[in-house]
Amino acid sequence: MEGRYRILVVDDDRGMLMLLRQKLRKAGFEVVISHNSMDALRILSEEDNIDLIICDIMMPEMDGYEFRRRLLDNPHSRDIPFIFLTARADPADQVKGFRMRVDDYITKPFQPDVLLARARSVIERHEAYREMMITDSLTGLLNRKAIEERIGIELKRIQRYNEVCSIVFIDIDDFKHVNDTYGHEAGDGVLVELAGLLRRELRNTDYIGRYGGEEFLVCLVNTGKAVAVKVVERLLSVFREMAIGEDAIRCTFSAGIASAPEDGMEFDVLCRKADEAMYISKKEGKNRVTPWQEGGEGHL
Ligand SMILES: [Mg+2]
Repeated sequence: MEGRYRILVVDDDRGMLMLLRQKLRKAGFEVVISHNSMDALRILSEEDNIDLIICDIMMPEMDGYEFRRRLLDNPHSRDIPFIFLTARADPADQVKGFRMRVDDYITKPFQPDVLLARARSVIERHEAYREMMITDSLTGLLNRKAIEERIGIELKRIQRYNEVCSIVFIDIDDFKHVNDTYGHEAGDGVLVELAGLLRRELRNTDYIGRYGGEEFLVCLVNTGKAVAVKVVERLLSVFREMAIGEDAIRCTFSAGIASAPEDGMEFDVLCRKADEAMYISKKEGKNRVTPWQEGGEGHL
């Protein structure tokens, strides 16, 4: 599990680097070592998968404080978990360290097991926080910001590899009626059930997000429009057969689909087109799936 965590250790003392590398590797971490701050900055500019930095303070050329200051100035490195590991044990030094928003401050000499435990704790806290930042708390799906980001990355990827993908906008029909009739808790139950259905029926390589109240946004990777329509129609046929919660609530949804590259390559364009197609579904009687097509806006 921890094997996937990569720790960058920065220290001018080679003996200390060797000791830390050995202890951290033995505990299952991947370790990158650096003898000075300039070299560490170069590593950070080239690698974007460092999960923790453990850094000495007293180093020639650029000391740990200056190194930390530079990381804080850079949006790409600002939020990487960071621990000072130093012989400077004065309270004033520790206060100075924590003022630089470090996650921990450990003094040398140290107990290797304690260092490992503290490093693990820092990484796990950041991991939990990152997870929380991208998750919709009710459904456990990606939240709006996260699904937008993932789709943006996917669009860049398919451009590079000449692939296709489809963006699906899903909106539960008459959701206000569900809330008004059965209460908001029952309404939440419908959202949770639809989220579960999407997770079960779609591939785990697809991206699924809750976009707004009763709106969901899905990215079907490597899927052209014709197949996407079939996939979403199948989802709808399962959803409309579900009897949700104690009240056995029956629901349907309206969906719209736009595909890349045929309908565009920008997230905003595709999302707008999928949304427009979804509105055509609503207008034509709900409970259906509409692929976006040129001139189709005329139906609105
Ligand atoms: Mg030193």
